Amino acid sequence: MAKLTIDERVLDVDPQLTVIQAAAANGIEIPHFCWHPKLSVAGNCRMCLVEVEKMPKLAIACATQVAEGMVVRTKSDRVIKARNAVMEFLLINHPLDCPICDEAGECKLQDYAYKYSIGYSRFDEDKVHKPKRVELGPRVLLDVERCIMCSRCVRFADEVARQPVLTFTQRGTHVVLTTFPETQLDNRYSMNVVEICPVGALTSRDFRFKSRVWEMSSTDTICAGCSRGCNMNMWVRNNEILRLTPRHNEDVNSYWMCDDGRLKTFPWVNSPRRLSGPLVRKDGQLLETGWDEAIAKAATDLRLFRKGEVAAIGSPFATNEDNYAFQKVMRENLGVKFLDFVEHIVDGDEDDLLIRADKTPNARGARAVGVRPASPSEGLPAILKGISGGSIKALYVLEDNIASDPKIREVLTNLDLLIVHAHERNETTEMADVVFSASTYAEKHGTFVNFQGRVQRIRAAIATLEQDRALDGFAMSRWDKFASQNDKWGKGPRRDARPSWRIVTALGAALGAKAKFQTSEDVFREITERVPEFKGLTFMSVGIRGHMLAARQAAAKPVSVT
Ligand code: SF4
Ligand code: SF4
Repeated sequence: MAKLTIDERVLDVDPQLTVIQAAAANGIEIPHFCWHPKLSVAGNCRMCLVEVEKMPKLAIACATQVAEGMVVRTKSDRVIKARNAVMEFLLINHPLDCPICDEAGECKLQDYAYKYSIGYSRFDEDKVHKPKRVELGPRVLLDVERCIMCSRCVRFADEVARQPVLTFTQRGTHVVLTTFPETQLDNRYSMNVVEICPVGALTSRDFRFKSRVWEMSSTDTICAGCSRGCNMNMWVRNNEILRLTPRHNEDVNSYWMCDDGRLKTFPWVNSPRRLSGPLVRKDGQLLETGWDEAIAKAATDLRLFRKGEVAAIGSPFATNEDNYAFQKVMRENLGVKFLDFVEHIVDGDEDDLLIRADKTPNARGARAVGVRPASPSEGLPAILKGISGGSIKALYVLEDNIASDPKIREVLTNLDLLIVHAHERNETTEMADVVFSASTYAEKHGTFVNFQGRVQRIRAAIATLEQDRALDGFAMSRWDKFASQNDKWGKGPRRDARPSWRIVTALGAALGAKAKFQTSEDVFREITERVPEFKGLTFMSVGIRGHMLAARQAAAKPVSVT
């Protein structure tokens, strides 16, 4: 270790670190634009200049390695003067766009202008004008005037996405970021450049001009697009999801997310096609009904079948709590032996950065909490065979459109009873006798287990009718209470959907079960008591970074992301 002094604080740090890394690790902020912890050092913005004793000139903290006995000052008069000069230089040609810029409110240049600039401009010439709306690729737009030439996006494309298509042309104040001829920024991680751009030069075609950042709430949750389970923030205004952005977790996704995860995992949550409540089939038609009526009908219909005639399909899209409560009711109250789920693997569609071939967020967890056959003769192939042969007459399906596969759809036509949990009408609900309107991953609390065996929390970012009713005494988790009290959900439409664990708990009660889970945390507590891999965990201990399942801890390796 090296002994280093920064602003009169004596620190013991790894001698391999640079001054900016050592400062960041010890909670000391050194302002910077071009430096990013996961990119190579460019040293071009000069914002991180610091004074190092015995060095005649100011040094850039991002490229200065620490040394034994080094004394660094980040707030001396010389440093402040240099920072003022850098800010003045950067602002000479920067447009006064803040009132219409998507980045306002989360812009480093705006923040540093308040903190580190002199507060007025000595420059009264015309600013250099450059193109304002350049399509760098299908998902990212560039406002060249706002670019401060930090080169973060260039280095991201070269070093992380490994698609080196960005470069600078021209000289001096006329420098322009652009793509090489005949190329465009269209890799599967292209939208990460929008977050790492320290200003509003790069914007997402999907999100731009939709909302000011301070009008949205942000919830720490997990992407449901594949079994990586990237940590992310879900941004909501008036109960509608507007964007997803990555949340740093070095063990899972570092600072990144893929474009599919950002764009494809939320429009269906906002969709007007969502179910507006439970449905039951009468005279061949699916008709809306109340929750009590739907649960009573499902319980009555299921009682008509003998043990062995009912099978159950859990869901790798649903939480551990949903799957656990589901398999418990199926096994303990209906004597179901045939229990499995359908995998959603897209062979070959994965890479060595984040994207996984398993396009579900919780296959590992569904299996761990008991959605698996006791023997291969009771798994999915046996279920389909049993339905085709007539020995299985009733099927209960949790949050999975299994009939989107034409072969399975054909098999399901042999059933006498089909009960389904779904978010919107689909091929499976169209065949069902009872449909329960299930909350999506954005509307409930719970846990997923990613492909590494890491338990991670999802949190409700938008409210359903049930969560609103909770204010009138319906059981409410402390997490929801907090959100309600802080008016986090805001106004906007509420869907009449419930988490699957709550629906099957009510069904279990109608079938005579004793379990009366009030919150998802109650279900998780029982999982930790009954499933050894989860032993000792709580929602609190899983926290915002997740926790490896007990059996997996020894094998866990951090993700290898540049
Ligand atoms: S577009 Fe943004 S990230 Fe790229 S060089 Fe310009 S300021 Fe930096
Ligand atoms: S890699 Fe998977 S988990 Fe991560 S953002 Fe993409 S789809 Fe979501």
